[in-house]
Amino acid sequence: MDSRDYGRPLTPGRGSRNESTRQHNLSLLLSLVHHHPQISRAELTRMTGLNRSTIGALVADLVDARLVVEVAALSGNVGRPSPRVTAHPGIAAVAVNPDVDAIIVGLVGMGGVVLDRKRIPLPELPSPEQTVQIAADATRDLLAAHPEIIRIAGAGAAVPGLARPLDGVITRSPHLNWYEIPYAEMLEDALQTPAYIDNDANVGLLAEAVFGAGRNLSTYFYMNGSASGIGGAIIAGGTVLRGADGYAGELGHTVVDSNGPLCHCGRHGCLETEVQYARLKDAAAPHELVFGDLANSLADIDNGAVAEEIDRQVELLAGAIASHMSVFNPEAVILGGFLGGLFERRGEELRQRVKDLAFAPLADELVLERDSIGEDLLLVGAAELAFAPLLDNPLGG
Ligand SMILES: [Zn+2]
Repeated sequence: MDSRDYGRPLTPGRGSRNESTRQHNLSLLLSLVHHHPQISRAELTRMTGLNRSTIGALVADLVDARLVVEVAALSGNVGRPSPRVTAHPGIAAVAVNPDVDAIIVGLVGMGGVVLDRKRIPLPELPSPEQTVQIAADATRDLLAAHPEIIRIAGAGAAVPGLARPLDGVITRSPHLNWYEIPYAEMLEDALQTPAYIDNDANVGLLAEAVFGAGRNLSTYFYMNGSASGIGGAIIAGGTVLRGADGYAGELGHTVVDSNGPLCHCGRHGCLETEVQYARLKDAAAPHELVFGDLANSLADIDNGAVAEEIDRQVELLAGAIASHMSVFNPEAVILGGFLGGLFERRGEELRQRVKDLAFAPLADELVLERDSIGEDLLLVGAAELAFAPLLDNPLGG
């Protein structure tokens, strides 16, 4: 499998006793340590089904490779305390998130820990070349401030627009006005480390899948409302649904009103032209909305034009969610960005309308929730792109 394709299962499976599958077991172990900070050797034994001496040997290999460290456990429980295994604190990935008004560059440790970040505001729409240069400069500054980092696993970028993870090309990003950009290759040259890209909604979903609201789910979809549109992504049976060309999950471009306004994709009445942060903002004027605290800022002004606009958006969003449910039969639907804010403000109403509109048996057990990682979502997810090859084959070669 190509390591750029995180079509790998997102939850580690069972271990194998066959020595020829040592690489598989090392990958499994490092993935478990990555997903469960401070996991004990005893838990690793239980979760992999491997015996204690095999776990001991594999952990020793990972310690030698400076990928994990062992720390003595606090005693107190019955029996011998089992040592804790954690990812080596000197390993990090560079996360890059170019957007229309700023570029955010972060240093992310294993376990999804954001060690540091820089937000560089942009006075005008940047060119791809400008953003990789800014990313390289910011990375140099961040690394200078973090001498404890001894190894960069790679770089990952969350891109607003259509992206092909397999060859690292941004096909089209109307918001940035970028078309057919070999962005992974450009980042790789500028940062001198392997680089990977994906669409920002997929990246957000990946972060939520590994460390957030999706960590115990296997089939669900995620809809993220940014200031510029709605991204979507789908996990089916524990794997990201990519589609034939990697464009699956464009849930913001499902048509909800064919007589609706023109969408930048060239069609009319897409969900993202109807359910839109800008429309909420217009309805709320002259009150200001706070994107990161939408539920509370709407609560202060939820009457008249704003209430009407919220009603309209909740109704259209519920219809779209209900339709997607017929396609994917999810265990849960996770909402992020301003959609998460709408859900926080009008959750019960949204849930009820989804139930009313969905094909009945699908909605009985529906879990509707908002994402849980917050503002570092895209940095954590972008770092996951970069950690994937290391988790796949910890000792390389
Ligand atoms: Zn559209």
